Amino acid sequence: MKQGHSDKDVDSVAGAVSQKGFTPHVSRGAERTIIGVIGNDRRYELQSFLENLEGVENVIQILKPFKLASRESRTGESSISTGEAVFGGKEVVIIAGPCAVESRSQLEAIAPLVKRAGAKLFRGGAYKPRTSPYSFQGLGEEGLILLSDIRKMTGLPVTTEVLSPETVDLVAEHADLLQIGARNMQNFALLQKVGKCRRPVLLKRGMMNTLEELLMSAEYIMASGNHQVILCERGIRTFEKYSRFTLDISAVPILKSLTHLPVIVDPSHAAGNWEYVSALSRAAVAAGADGLIVEVHHEPQKALSDGAQSLKPERFSALMEELRHIASAIGREMASGT
Ligand code: PEP
Ligand code: MN
Repeated sequence: MKQGHSDKDVDSVAGAVSQKGFTPHVSRGAERTIIGVIGNDRRYELQSFLENLEGVENVIQILKPFKLASRESRTGESSISTGEAVFGGKEVVIIAGPCAVESRSQLEAIAPLVKRAGAKLFRGGAYKPRTSPYSFQGLGEEGLILLSDIRKMTGLPVTTEVLSPETVDLVAEHADLLQIGARNMQNFALLQKVGKCRRPVLLKRGMMNTLEELLMSAEYIMASGNHQVILCERGIRTFEKYSRFTLDISAVPILKSLTHLPVIVDPSHAAGNWEYVSALSRAAVAAGADGLIVEVHHEPQKALSDGAQSLKPERFSALMEELRHIASAIGREMASGT
């Protein structure tokens, strides 16, 4: 829209867009207002029709297959808040906690320590997508209730994975941030269901998926009405076997150039081994990630899932200190520990 356009102009352009059978999406920035016109049509007449409406400055076709997720569709970065944490701002936000919720005493042992180290959200899976049907599958609803209790105890918002469309409403009752795991990145029914939800979504990249496919999955959630999507690079499958997956560090600057959505990194699942987690975390923050999700366990040798890649709380705390130096060297901030 032109500088100095009125609200009435915005309403009437949005109305005209709807009347033509397209969906308008209004994004108001400090400098300018952009109205997204979503639909499957490239007719030239639409372009000239829109150009002639009152208040319209310019009509740009977004030729990329992802539209709402694309940088062109809004002004500036998306910032997504949960509790005190804001993803996509100046601060690098750290999520930490165990792979899986195992018991109340386990959460009570870990959560206060990661909070003290400066983590802003707590993580823990109640529904676990395990490779083997014989492995621990998570505590399910009982695990969700334990997470809710931990939020009350620590004040930290919680994130947990949602595995199926049927459990989205239940998980959303307990979780502040809904995690879609790598194995479900292209579960389109699940994406559409979380798209109808009010909770922000943490969308992890599938281990065999391209960045364009990741952005198309974000587009599914956004097109269903939920624009609060955080992307997560968590390592992809390559021929290398010394790490569990290969952390695609270039995903961070590439995604940042393609999309306004926040981008975080999971160094734990990429590494598969706690010894490499700190180095990958430092690299991710240096590359410009908006946050990290890190697995921390007080007794990794006894963990029911992913113990080998879990940091002990003391090591996590030392890592946080290193990350603060890197964040400040690149003009970003990180919450201090208490
Ligand atoms: C997890 O975060 O515990 C997890 C299962 O991660 P991913 O979906 O990336 O494998
Ligand atoms: Mn895990």
